[in-house]
Amino acid sequence: MRFVSAAAIVFVALGAHAAEAPADLVLRGGDVLTQDPAHPHARAVATRGGFIVALDGAAEKLVGPKTRVIELQGRAVVPSLTDAHAHLVGLGFAAAAVNLRGCVSAADCARRVAAARPNRGAWTLGRAWDQNRFADGKFPTHAALDGIATPVSLERVDGHALWVNAAAMRAAHVDRTTKDPAGGKILRDDKGEPTGVFVDNAMSLIERAIPEATAAEIEAAIVRGQSLALAEGLTEIHDMGIGGDVTAAYARLAAAGKLQLRVYAMGAQSDADRLLAHPPVHAQPGAMFTLRGIKLYADGALGSRGAALLAPYADDPGNSGLVITPAATIEKIARTAVASGWQVAVHAIGDRGNRNVLDAFAAAGVGPAQRFRIEHAQVVALDDIARFKRLGVIASMQPTHATSDSPWAEKRVGKERIKGAYAWRRMLDAGVPLAFGSDFPVEEPSVVAGFRAAVERGGWTVDQRLTLDETLRAFTTGAAFAAFEEAWRGRAAPGMAADLTIFDRAAADLVHARADATIVAGRVVYERR
Ligand SMILES: [Zn+2]
Repeated sequence: MRFVSAAAIVFVALGAHAAEAPADLVLRGGDVLTQDPAHPHARAVATRGGFIVALDGAAEKLVGPKTRVIELQGRAVVPSLTDAHAHLVGLGFAAAAVNLRGCVSAADCARRVAAARPNRGAWTLGRAWDQNRFADGKFPTHAALDGIATPVSLERVDGHALWVNAAAMRAAHVDRTTKDPAGGKILRDDKGEPTGVFVDNAMSLIERAIPEATAAEIEAAIVRGQSLALAEGLTEIHDMGIGGDVTAAYARLAAAGKLQLRVYAMGAQSDADRLLAHPPVHAQPGAMFTLRGIKLYADGALGSRGAALLAPYADDPGNSGLVITPAATIEKIARTAVASGWQVAVHAIGDRGNRNVLDAFAAAGVGPAQRFRIEHAQVVALDDIARFKRLGVIASMQPTHATSDSPWAEKRVGKERIKGAYAWRRMLDAGVPLAFGSDFPVEEPSVVAGFRAAVERGGWTVDQRLTLDETLRAFTTGAAFAAFEEAWRGRAAPGMAADLTIFDRAAADLVHARADATIVAGRVVYERR
């Protein structure tokens, strides 16, 4: 220590002074799962100015006359809980749409729709139907909804298909002469008439006729979604594929101090050219809103057989799914993004979709420094897992997808390919960086459901289960890394963001816990009553 610089002395002096000032908030008497391997548990944590300033005894010493003290009484605290793949506006709108989750038939869904009022102009929007829950397992048709005279558009549970009535098809000018768009499919009867189900890119034929949400409706949806996410204990979400209108709404809410949940966002594929024309703005520590990624779609989803597979579906031998964005297009965008500093995240569900993305990234010169991501990485050829590691591609996965899809996933892909499906354990063992999320509103926004799905897998393909510690890392430090935030988020340590979730019980039973309180930037933004 002979050559201590002046800067180091100043830093130490400031640090010592700062540590003596009273804290804004002290949590004590609990078990803070710090996610810091050098110091995995702390009994207390102190925050000031939106950041953590001390742990343990040093934290307890910072209680001053104005400090708020929360007695944890043994409860677990997790720092920086993040949903690394979510759709907040979708969650807000979903809360306002007709909920068809759990419907057991087309008629059952139609009854729920008929009981509701139009919720977007003259249209009635609904969500979360799943024909796999119907007794016949078949896609529904418009006929079941034709008792309703106004347009009805209902999104499938995975967001990859719309089921509409005749009024909606009339409003959208869709009939037997309408051609299937590239990467999409209009389901038809044997006379060639549309049956009312529009898959993947064909959804846009209907969507363009639905009145657009106003700026005020978007802001209201964000605020509604934010309350739901905070109540689950989330302190940040990665919002996947937002348009310019949503970006503007976030910016307005952040400027007005109304954004209480941190948002790390990816722009929509349709905005890629516009976004790539300028380098992204890199977030300062403590930022509430950041846009520095672009979200692309390689393929569709497994439930609607839109996921692109290397060989045909096991339960649909003529069909290998849909390539939504060709590898050459992904490569071109990736190359530009590498040069300009944008992060690229690509939705890929099938083994063909995943391989296309890996091929495109490799050809574009992507390496670990870029931290490019594959969203879902749901069915991956076993040979391709090592390529994630080599290219430094983050596997951004959603544990609850495995438990939701387990009743039918193996029927789609068969015995062999299921080994690379929802294969978190294989990814982790291969050294692939993991980030976990829920894809809400596709799944419920519950992060605890994510813990449980990762640790227990509903008893399905249990060789891929993770430990609770491994699971927490993917929802905290893994998610922070996937957003270039690891210097100031992800762990509980002095200097890190004061983003803390207090659960209602000790760490041992976290898979059944509920959030008691959520703290973002040192402010208690949710408390369970
Ligand atoms: Zn998604």
